[in-house]
Amino acid sequence: MKIAIIGAGVAGLASARRCLENGFECVVFERTKRVGGTWVYDERIGLDEFGLPIHTSMYKCLMTNLPKELMNYPNFPYKGLDNVSFLTPFQVQEYIEQFTKHFKLIQHIRFCSLVTSVERLTNIWQVIVEDLMTKTARIEYFDAVMVCNGHNAVPRIPDDKPGMNEFVGIQIHSHDYRVPEPFKNMNVLIIGSGPSGVDISVDVAKVANQVYFSHNNPKLLDKEFPDNIAHKPAIEYFTEKTVCFIDKTSVALDAIIYCTGFKIALPFLKPSCGINLINDELITSLHKNIVNMNNPSMGFIGFINMNFVFPIFDLQARYYIEFLRNNYSANENWMTAVNTHVVGHYLLEYCKSLALEEIKIEPIPMIIFRTYWGCQKLREENFGSYRSAVFRIIDSNKYFIEFDKNN
Ligand code: FAD
Repeated sequence: MKIAIIGAGVAGLASARRCLENGFECVVFERTKRVGGTWVYDERIGLDEFGLPIHTSMYKCLMTNLPKELMNYPNFPYKGLDNVSFLTPFQVQEYIEQFTKHFKLIQHIRFCSLVTSVERLTNIWQVIVEDLMTKTARIEYFDAVMVCNGHNAVPRIPDDKPGMNEFVGIQIHSHDYRVPEPFKNMNVLIIGSGPSGVDISVDVAKVANQVYFSHNNPKLLDKEFPDNIAHKPAIEYFTEKTVCFIDKTSVALDAIIYCTGFKIALPFLKPSCGINLINDELITSLHKNIVNMNNPSMGFIGFINMNFVFPIFDLQARYYIEFLRNNYSANENWMTAVNTHVVGHYLLEYCKSLALEEIKIEPIPMIIFRTYWGCQKLREENFGSYRSAVFRIIDSNKYFIEFDKNN
């Protein structure tokens, strides 16, 4: 069986490892010049050297919000970072490169190769790939396709606020945020309370005059933030130079940063693939967020939200490879469609169901879940300082958390 893998980020590389381990031939198509996807920090914004939108949304100050103990592929720990748990994007990127080298994935990756079309023919997949260096297109054929192109690259900006277009200051999405310097001495509005909204508010506050942080997350209100960050409720309208919030307060602004999330984009999937994308946020119909129920020889890896992604993407890849090995078809009576990519509170059930139901594969060890819940609790209780902690996993049951003695 020959498999096309679209994208060489965390999901695509997990997929390539598991394909090769199981004796499947695979080609990984990657539109950029490097592995790592989101984790490749690129100071450029806008278009790349090929005229395509920059893929990565990584900002320079990022520290991971999970310890490295949850950010590694199975049986491939981080090396030489014994006394830190929370990492910079550069450290994660280096790890991903080491992983690629160790599992000899590089010879299976075609860089600067943009997948522009995937079509289902009678019993084969036709993939059209543009070689961005030579500007030539090639048609290739595969038995299966694994879609791993990520979902944190296309900005979602709400367009429902009156006056947005009249505002004359800077307006950017977090996708285009890299460093705080352009916002020096400005009054900046940050919209959205996800991890990027929190990180970028704190980063911008280092140089800005004043940051207004508009969100509806009550849990953030009693957390420690720098003095020049003011919490604000939702927005009612904008004028040329101001914003008015729903509590009728209004402030003068120089810039707005939308930390309002991303759209899923699958521009290369043609109708014959049998996939619908609803409101740019829900791919239908997928069994367990992985298998295309209309054409099961197409799988999706990495399309779940907000979890410890390295072990889970690896689990999804192992599940899907096993699915292909067993030659399952669209008629299996256990296939059911999911209606959300947010796994949230059902994370453990989701992971167990991948490993222990119709397909039997090695589950993710419970200690990984325990460490994840421990990290969530630590973050809740030590919002400003949790990243100085070091996680030590002792055995399959126990971990402890070491705090920075100077903190
Ligand atoms: P991506 O990393 O987006 O990789 C997709 C790849 O596909 C890219 O290399 C892209 O170039 C390629 N591609 C896309 N379209 C095509 C095409 N048509 N043809 C060929 N190639 C294509 N997760 C954590 O676990 N911890 C964190 O602390 C954390 N912080 C984050 C911070 C930010 C700012 C963001 C945006 C995300 C963060 N994440 C974090 C989530 C992160 O996205 C995942 O960890 C993971 O990197 C997603 O991997 P992926 O392979 O699904 O997608």
